[in-house]
Amino acid sequence: MIKCPNCGTFNTDRDQCSECNSPLNERKKKHETRKEKVKSELIEQVIYEKENPNLPERLKRHKYAVVRAFGWILFSVIWVVSAIVSAFVWFVTMVAAG
Ligand SMILES: [Zn+2]
Repeated sequence: MIKCPNCGTFNTDRDQCSECNSPLNERKKKHETRKEKVKSELIEQVIYEKENPNLPERLKRHKYAVVRAFGWILFSVIWVVSAIVSAFVWFVTMVAAG
């Protein structure tokens, strides 16, 4: 079922409106392109969020307590890992220097 953008008549499996002969395919195509655009934007957003180092900060401000808790856990894990890495770098530097 495609609603005619010109007169509002519903047409089934037609390229043109049965009432006013307006092309119906164009609207359908536009809709599909928009859907694709939304999909790619969603993927870009997911990639951005994955690459964004401030993800724990944003999770901590989330409206859901569960997500906030996850944000704090993630934040703690990142903090501990960076502390270990810093200690390791410090250790390697000391060994290399001394
Ligand atoms: Zn029409």
